[in-house]
Parts: sequence; structure tokens; C-alpha cells
Amino acid sequence: MALLSIVLPSYNEEQNIANTAQTLSALLRQEQIDYELIFVSDGSRDNTYREIQKVSAQDPRVKGVQFSRNFGKEASIFAGLQLAAGDAVIVMDCDLQHPPSVIPKMWSLWNAGYEVVEGIKTNRGRESLLHKCFAGVFYRIMSGLIKMDMNASSDYKLLDRKVVDVLLELPEKNTFFRALTFWAGFKTVSVEYEVQERVYGESKWSFFSLMRYAITNVTSFSTLPLQLVTVLGVVSILFSLALAVQTLVKYLTGTAVEGFTTVILLILIIGGFIMLSLGVIGHYLARIYEEVKGRPRYIISQMTDNVRGKEAQGG
Ligand code: UDP
Ligand code: MG
Repeated sequence: MALLSIVLPSYNEEQNIANTAQTLSALLRQEQIDYELIFVSDGSRDNTYREIQKVSAQDPRVKGVQFSRNFGKEASIFAGLQLAAGDAVIVMDCDLQHPPSVIPKMWSLWNAGYEVVEGIKTNRGRESLLHKCFAGVFYRIMSGLIKMDMNASSDYKLLDRKVVDVLLELPEKNTFFRALTFWAGFKTVSVEYEVQERVYGESKWSFFSLMRYAITNVTSFSTLPLQLVTVLGVVSILFSLALAVQTLVKYLTGTAVEGFTTVILLILIIGGFIMLSLGVIGHYLARIYEEVKGRPRYIISQMTDNVRGKEAQGG
């Protein structure tokens, strides 16, 4: 019988673990799906890991690991994929904002031969206007860059074992899970779901962490900004040429002098372009530097008894 692994990244979710585990177990038992739950506590500082241990002690189908510190949601997703033994793996948030009721549908689509089932949001849950605007811009850019419509995509998806293995074999450490499954291809279908309200706790994302997330993901997925720097350079050179001609003409006709305004503006504009360009290059350098160091994506400090040590390797 086919096994379904469910990967649940959890960061400071002590109130959600027991409830989520119970909800999922009840559903999967009722649907007669053979399953395992993998909770990855992303360096939680509350009792999340203790909760996971408690649930795991009662139910051997629940596994869990604790990271040595907060490594981010991407890292927890990949740790979960690494630990998953299933023939199909579902990644979902552990705050039940991704409704479990969609799981049977995903499972039957997988049984029908689909290798990737993308969860598509029909609404965006409760978010601030600013958040909505930024998310809109970010997904517009990302969709353009990877040439696929990513709007409304999420981390809620089912992946076939083949796809999981492909993702685990990627050598890069800076990943963007949501886009990687589009990039990987495979026989894909999507199911729609409605984002639920969070019952316990609050969202773990601040405005700045979201900005960082957006910049990291764009730079790890596309080199277009680097090429834009060149374009900016060319544009400002053309602009300078035109100005140089004008200045020379003025000089030769003896109407020079004035124009401190021009000088100051030029310095500001060119200085701005240069700093912007250096910043963009710096971002890529940082990406390259991180990849070259080859450090693991995450470090596991504790794991429940049913996780074998070697499974937790990698990352
Ligand atoms: N999460 C994580 N590491 C982090 C931040 C979040 O593993 O550094 C998990 C979190 O526990 C939750 C999921 O990622 O299961 C989504 O986070 P959250 O609910 O805070 O985000 P939102 O639903 O508001 O987008
Ligand atoms: Mg959430």
C-alpha cells in the first residue's frame, strides 16, 4: 500500500502541534490512507518540540526533528522532504491555514497519475493592504522571470517520490520551493483551496523578513537584475555623452560657467546608479559566497526515536 508523508514546518507553534496531528490523523484514517506525519521544528524557542515528542510517543507514525536554530521555512521543508519515506509527499503549514480537506483530492489525483499537485489559493487570507501590494509585485516579477504564472501559488503541494528525489539532488542551498516545482516540470495539476484563518498564534513573517525573502528568491532564481545593471550603465553613458556634447558646444561658443545645478545633479544621479549597481552585484556575490561555502541548509539538534540518524543527514 502506498505511503503518504506529510511534511509540516513548524516554528513556535506549540499550540498547533497536537491539534494538527489529531486532525490529520483522523482524516487520513477515515480516508484509509497509509500515512506518516513529519514535524520539523525550525529552531522553535517555545515548547513546539516537546509537543512533537509527546505526540510521537503516542503515535509512531508521527516523526519530528528540532533544528539547532531558526533556519527558515525553506530549510524546514527540505529537511522534511529528506526525512519523508512516502511514495507521495505533501507539504503544508502546521497552522491548518492550508485546509486538510483538500488532501483526499490531492491523493486521488496522485493515484490518477499526476506527479505534482499544486495547491492554488482562491483567496489570500487576512493580510494588510501593504502586504497584498508587495506580494502582488513580487509574484508578478517572479512569474515573469520563470515564465509561469505563480500568482496564488503556495507551499501547499503534493509531490511524487520522483519529484522529491529530483529536488533533494539539487546542489544549491538557496532554494525557493514554491517556484522549484514549476521549474522541475513533471505531470502537474492544480487544486484550489481557500486559505483558512489561523486559530492559534500569529504569522511568523514580519515586513522585513518578507522583503528579505523576496530579494533572496529573485536573486537565487534569476540573473536578470545583474543584466539590468549593464543596461543602466549603457543608458547613463549615452546620457553623459549627450551632456558632454552640450557642455563642449557651450564651452566653444563661450557660454559655459553657470550650471552648478547640472554638476550636482549629475553627481547625484551617477552616484545613485553606481551604488544601486554595486548593491545588485553584492547580492549575487552574497549568493555565490553562500553556495561556495557549501554549508548545510540546516542542523538537526534533536530527533524523535523513530527517526534514524542517517535519514537526518544531508541538507
Ligand atoms: N515557519 C517555519 N520557519 C520560519 C517561519 C515559519 O517553519 O522561520 C512555518 C510556520 O510554523 C508555519 C508555516 O511556516 O507552519 C507558515 O508560517 P506562517 O503561518 O507564520 O506564515 P503565513 O501563513 O502567515 O504566511
Ligand atoms: Mg500561516
